[in-house]
Amino acid sequence: MNPTIPISAVTLGPEEERLVLEVLRSGQLSQGPKVRQLEQQFAAAHDVAHAVAVNNGTTALVAALRGLSLGPGDEVVTTPLSFVATLNAILETGATVRFADIDEDFCLDPDAVGALIGERTRALLPVHLYGLPADMPRFAQLAREHGLALVEDAAQAPGARIGGRAVGSSGVGCFSFYATKNIMCGEGGMITTDDATLADRLRVLRNQGMRARYQYEAAGHNYRLTDLQAAIALAQLARLDHVNVARRRHAAFLSEHLRDLPGLRVPSVPAGRSHVFHQYTVRITPDAAVDREGFVAGLSDRGITTGIYYPRLMHDYDCFRDNSQVVVDETPVADRVVTEIVSLPVHPQLSRNDLERIVEAVSEVLQ
Ligand SMILES: *Cc1c(COP(=O)(O)O)cnc(C)c1O
Repeated sequence: MNPTIPISAVTLGPEEERLVLEVLRSGQLSQGPKVRQLEQQFAAAHDVAHAVAVNNGTTALVAALRGLSLGPGDEVVTTPLSFVATLNAILETGATVRFADIDEDFCLDPDAVGALIGERTRALLPVHLYGLPADMPRFAQLAREHGLALVEDAAQAPGARIGGRAVGSSGVGCFSFYATKNIMCGEGGMITTDDATLADRLRVLRNQGMRARYQYEAAGHNYRLTDLQAAIALAQLARLDHVNVARRRHAAFLSEHLRDLPGLRVPSVPAGRSHVFHQYTVRITPDAAVDREGFVAGLSDRGITTGIYYPRLMHDYDCFRDNSQVVVDETPVADRVVTEIVSLPVHPQLSRNDLERIVEAVSEVLQ
């Protein structure tokens, strides 16, 4: 029996061990020189002047929105197909959230967003879902035309590019270093911006609103990352290009061999975008030989782990139903797509043999 192929796998090498040991031996475990170094290298890798490290991707979004002074009465337009952190972060600021429809590529549709912009809209929040950059040139144009803030949920897309520009460099970029992400250190996050004033405000906000010890400028929080975590993320960042190339190569192999199967749609990558394939997500369409449940079971029987990201639209839960901050409009594309998506393993540790097993299993199950 072949070993099970997992949906994700962590890669930790001798460089992570060396840097963590260095921090341990220094005795300086909380935010210090490793965090500063990570911020500098992360900013350079994403074509921005400033990067501010925080303790996770959710607080990166909360801090970014707070830094932009979003609050009660303001409206944020985002996608309904994302991890719930996107929604929770907006709700935490007191702002109202509206959901525009997505495109066939799974990302927010700029035309649908344009149609929802109104009097109270203050920010647009596209998500680079599965590692595919959303249409940032169009969102940047909409933000300029309407005087809106632009925040990018880039948790799944470090190193992805659109039109030659890194994600996180068109708006305020929010990244996650959670255990399964393309760069990870257990828990961690990063905010990117070219705006020096905003970066300064974020640094104060993450440290209890303090500029210097006991010198408070605002009501803040503790959003700090530790040097232990930064040490791991530094080693991961050094490998990011390599990791993203491997993910892209695996995705290309899968798409080449799966694209003509009836009942399955491989992910589309619009021209000019470099996808970093945090997930490789296909769609099981109504004409398939099995339904999605049967597809997942068939792959599981053959030792292939799959994931559904996400089983329901982000707001489609009882706990958000009567929330006055949550406004639900019609999103027919997202409503359909969410019933069809399923992700296959694409992580860097897959071997050629693993990829061939995935192709063979998918072909058998859809026969
Ligand atoms: C992982 C993720 C987040 C939240 O990041 P955490 O570090 O887990 O808090 C936000 N948005 C998206 C799209 C994510 O995938």
